[in-house]
Amino acid sequence: MNRSVIITGGSRGIGAATAILAARKGYEVCVNFLSNEKAALKVVDHIIRNGGKAIALQADVSSESEVANMFRTVDSSMSPLWGLVNNAGILETQMRFEDMKTDRWERILKSNVMSCFHCSKEAIRRLSAKHGGAGGSIVNVGSIASLSGSPGEYVDYAAAKGAVDSLTRGLSRELACEGIRVNAVRPAFIYTDIHASGGEPGRVDRIKDLIPMKRGGQPEEVAEAIVWLLSDEASYCTGTFIDLAGGR
Ligand code: NAP
Repeated sequence: MNRSVIITGGSRGIGAATAILAARKGYEVCVNFLSNEKAALKVVDHIIRNGGKAIALQADVSSESEVANMFRTVDSSMSPLWGLVNNAGILETQMRFEDMKTDRWERILKSNVMSCFHCSKEAIRRLSAKHGGAGGSIVNVGSIASLSGSPGEYVDYAAAKGAVDSLTRGLSRELACEGIRVNAVRPAFIYTDIHASGGEPGRVDRIKDLIPMKRGGQPEEVAEAIVWLLSDEASYCTGTFIDLAGGR
């Protein structure tokens, strides 16, 4: 379809499922990763074996200069950019608020919020009608944590995801007349590696009886919502949130 999408953190979890589904729908996919090149190449291999187009690009999306380089590489090696999925995100070990160190807050805000700023800025310069672009779609991956606040676990992460909600709403209105839609998904309790970084790999199974659907979610279920928001089928949809949390 001659449209490229950049999926940050496309090597694993929700990002990998989104990359595979987006490629199946016909997009050329840039699978961004931080350090797990093997996982990123596995996603790219899967896409290519199934007739799609993809490249893997290493870049720390919390770094403005690395993000700028990644977008330049996409410009020179892929079809024109159409979409950006701000998916990369991290959390750190569960702990009480007063025990958190300042450098932890800085890491959390850089990886979960500044990443969206750096990547969205580059995308807007290419997609906005104001800059001669043909329009496009940005999907942010927030979290239900923005609503719950994640007390006793990771209030820092929840606060970062709260910023992603505000950024989504504000940017959607700023860009609404420039051909760019901005939406977000807010997942929770999805079976991925992220819970191990929080110090509790089995977190979803511990919590699942408290979820109205009584089960955790799969990355592919989140990918469906992301790829719909990216697509022309969502053409009148901007500034909205799709919550994927089994009814929580
Ligand atoms: P995951 O399995 O831990 O995967 C994280 C991905 O992000 C990996 O591809 C990783 O790359 C990449 N990444 C991390 N920091 C990066 C950076 N600075 N630059 C570039 N890439 C970076 O996580 P996930 O569960 O799929 O989470 C994806 C998104 O969903 C996150 O924004 C997360 O907050 C959100 N979310 C997840 C859940 C859940 O239950 N899983 C719930 C709510 C929200 P490497 O492979 O190279 O390390």
